[in-house]
Amino acid sequence: MTTLRIEGLRAEVAGREILKGVDLVVSSGEVHAVMGPNGAGKSTLSAVIMGKPGYRVTGGKVTLDGADVLAMPTWERAVAGLHLVMQYPTEVPGVHVDDVLAEALRSRGRDTASLGAEIDREAARIGFDPSLVTRALNVDLSGGEKKRNETLQMAVLAPRIAILDELDSGLDIDALRDCARRVEAATHESSLGVLAITHYVRLLEELKADMVHILVAGRIVASGGPELADRLERDGYGAFV
Ligand code: ADP
Ligand code: MG
Repeated sequence: MTTLRIEGLRAEVAGREILKGVDLVVSSGEVHAVMGPNGAGKSTLSAVIMGKPGYRVTGGKVTLDGADVLAMPTWERAVAGLHLVMQYPTEVPGVHVDDVLAEALRSRGRDTASLGAEIDREAARIGFDPSLVTRALNVDLSGGEKKRNETLQMAVLAPRIAILDELDSGLDIDALRDCARRVEAATHESSLGVLAITHYVRLLEELKADMVHILVAGRIVASGGPELADRLERDGYGAFV
């Protein structure tokens, strides 16, 4: 059982405070959805948890089973079991997905002997063309292929807590269903804990949220069960500010 605990987190970007005291606890097997309007600080939250450069934490803490996440460089956070599926996956010319995964597994002290078979299995499971695995990372992939690729990487690495920053952005209905289902399966098969940032209830039809949190202007203004997402769909964010 793993717990990611975010307490009173405050952070600024370019001298402007974006996160104004965020509290959130995600444990193994749970799905927490974070919904909020554009500019609310959702991507900032994911960036601060993973240690993306350019963000300054001005208060609060983030711990993974008690270990101080904010004190770790990004690679250590990943080795500790945190994984980010990016809103806009980065293109890395010249670097292949299978090489990235092999390196990531080695840094976790894990065996890479069965990696090829594992990638093939996951590619089939998620509907990702296996020939794309030997292409440069995300280069010349469609939006849907990028997210399938990102989800495949998550599945192979089997993190303890995954943060999905708008997994649904740039995805068609089929790709969204395949990716969301794979993440949902991981919550059962390997007790993955999920922090799913999204605008749309549609994602939550496949990825069942235990809790929904509404982030507005850097603060969580409401938390509740899945019915909160339905209320949001009906009434909009206006009802929460
Ligand atoms: P969301 O993901 O909820 O749409 P973001 O976290 O991306 O929101 O952005 C929150 C606010 O922080 C926005 O006003 C955005 O312009 C600003 N911001 C985010 N990243 C940067 C950055 N690197 N430099 C300057 N401003 C930024
Ligand atoms: Mg965002």
